Amino acid sequence: LTTEQKYTLKEARTLLGMSKRDLSKASGISLSAINSIENGGKFQTNNGVALALAEALALEVHEIKWPRGRSDLGRPAKTGKPITIRRTFTISVTEEITIDSEHPLCPRHFMVLPTGTGVCDFCSK
Ligand SMILES: [Zn+2]
Repeated sequence: LTTEQKYTLKEARTLLGMSKRDLSKASGISLSAINSIENGGKFQTNNGVALALAEALALEVHEIKWPRGRSDLGRPAKTGKPITIRRTFTISVTEEITIDSEHPLCPRHFMVLPTGTGVCDFCSK
């Protein structure tokens, strides 16, 4: 199997000479779930189920066409295998600065102005 083309679950399975039962055994995913995906499915495929099936076929999840797409919703795969899910968060950090009137700050960079030059390091560059 090349990594460029996308296969349906049935195509990938057939190319590897696996029966649905073989795939079920290898992935830990139930025969009925495999049947449902191969028949076009009613729901999105849970990401855990997709991962277990892709791994059993030695493919990446995105190399297989999932008839209704994928999501983190729904029942997770009952494979007994741990599943790693990567999530990306955007965080915002708030810093509280107390301005001391004795030591003036650069109004542009909020750096304490050195007593010698009176010019902040960023401004002098
Ligand atoms: Zn400055």
